[in-house]
Amino acid sequence: MKTLDLLLIHPPSYQYFREEKRAFGPVSDVVPSSPVFDMYPYGFLSIATYLIKRGYSVGIHNAAALMILNESYSFSDYIKSSDSLLYGIDLHWLVHAHGAIESARIIKELNPNAKIALGGFSATIFHREIMEKYPWIDYVILGDTSEPIFEKLIRHISGRGEKIEDIPNLAYRHNGTVKVNALNHAYSNLDEFGVDYDALLNHVISSSDPVGFIPFANFITDPIGAVISFKGCRYSCVTCGGSNYTFKKYLGRGELGKKSLKTVMNEVATMQEYMKIPVFFIGDMSFMGMNFAENLVRELNDSKIDSGVFFEFFRPPSIELLKILDNLKTDVYLQISPETHNEHVRARFGRPYSNKQLEDFIRSTVSMHFSRLDLYFMIGLPEQTFEDSTMLPQYIRHILSDVVGKKNARKIDYFVAPLAPFVDPGSLVFNYPERFGYNLETRSFEGHYSLIKNNRDWRYMLNYSTRYMSKDDIAKSTYQNAKEVIRLKASFGLIGEEASRKIIERIDSAYSDKSIELDNKETVDINDLYPHTNLIEAVMARKKGSEILMSIINSIFSA
Ligand code: SF4
Repeated sequence: MKTLDLLLIHPPSYQYFREEKRAFGPVSDVVPSSPVFDMYPYGFLSIATYLIKRGYSVGIHNAAALMILNESYSFSDYIKSSDSLLYGIDLHWLVHAHGAIESARIIKELNPNAKIALGGFSATIFHREIMEKYPWIDYVILGDTSEPIFEKLIRHISGRGEKIEDIPNLAYRHNGTVKVNALNHAYSNLDEFGVDYDALLNHVISSSDPVGFIPFANFITDPIGAVISFKGCRYSCVTCGGSNYTFKKYLGRGELGKKSLKTVMNEVATMQEYMKIPVFFIGDMSFMGMNFAENLVRELNDSKIDSGVFFEFFRPPSIELLKILDNLKTDVYLQISPETHNEHVRARFGRPYSNKQLEDFIRSTVSMHFSRLDLYFMIGLPEQTFEDSTMLPQYIRHILSDVVGKKNARKIDYFVAPLAPFVDPGSLVFNYPERFGYNLETRSFEGHYSLIKNNRDWRYMLNYSTRYMSKDDIAKSTYQNAKEVIRLKASFGLIGEEASRKIIERIDSAYSDKSIELDNKETVDINDLYPHTNLIEAVMARKKGSEILMSIINSIFSA
């Protein structure tokens, strides 16, 4: 294997999940990842693009996905055969606390000279504790834009002039003492940090590990792509670690960082040249403004995108924005997370809009050409009681029957999931649990590492309960609501009787000794989350995609 400048590794949430039976539960049911959270952060793609374009050699190795896909895959064997100046492991979501630390330990054990950096939001928040407790980790990269920091670190390690004390956003050790350089890189213009699939995929086919690049295990059967137009948030939902509060307090970001239309369109266009897959625009498009949305729609139409797009809203958007998006010529899916039918609880969570505002928005969407509107609800909210949480299906029925009417009911989809497994570190609830009625089991990094390691059942892995609901109540309410929601979907024709029966059977066995298959969802049908295609079809639909697929196949067979 050729020497890389940087090898980015994505660990599973629990490193040894293949060696013990676990009740994973519905913790990842409403995202494409499996319950071991095998999807790597979007940042891997922008870090790799940034460095490749500057002449560095970068690998991406999704260890979590390969552990799921290939029974005989061995992380240790892979590491033994790897050779990189620097190993970068993501610790963005705290659910990777165990996998990130253990992966790093294995790398150092097998290669004592390896230099290992952790990065991501959770690593930033816990940088001091990590550096003090885990001596096999050499660096923590802080902040939300690690691309230039990785470059400086590579230059430092390879003796190309950078002094470690001059690298911003970095925690390291000097003579055994932890040093933390100032956090001063939070860019407002993100154009330097776009993803270019042309550059990435051409680099991948020339690498010795093209399969390690897979974004998540289910990408083979249900691929979907994502585009980030901005970083930061204007709101502060109380359990969210990507909130305005958290960005300001821990990530040095006081304002949104944005990409230009040109950068966003380059991401979409280069992705679509290789794969006909749906594109999810992460973050509320309202933050980018009407002009941006108008130009984006025009350019997407000019590009003749034909794979479907998703837009999410943090609050009901203006009718003007909806009208703009309604001009798209591909299938458009919309998402919003009212979280609950209870206006008081929703406001306590940080989303102060009324059911009337929500219902007006829902009515508008069904009067336009959108393919579907997805509503997301959550269990484990501030001041949410068990009794109140079980009123949710009744409210959904009201939306279907009274707000949109039976004729339009199939244009609305709905999902319920627990706030799991963790209240985000750095969020308001994490810092002031009692103010919001939460009991946190631990606030340390090591405490979360242990929660993941020691709990085989998702219900007890939660880092919280509330004054109103125990961990068992949260699980019971989730399952009870999920069953009712599935019955509603079946009765309104969103899913078939057979699929509904299977999901209800899975939910009923959640309290038995059976654990869920890793590539499966417990309370939803994956085909219900986003339009189903498969990777081979998606790639073969594009000329550049089929060419690259043939190169990868040839390189595998000639190796
Ligand atoms: S959950 Fe709330 S605070 Fe977090 S990103 Fe979404 S809107 Fe912003």
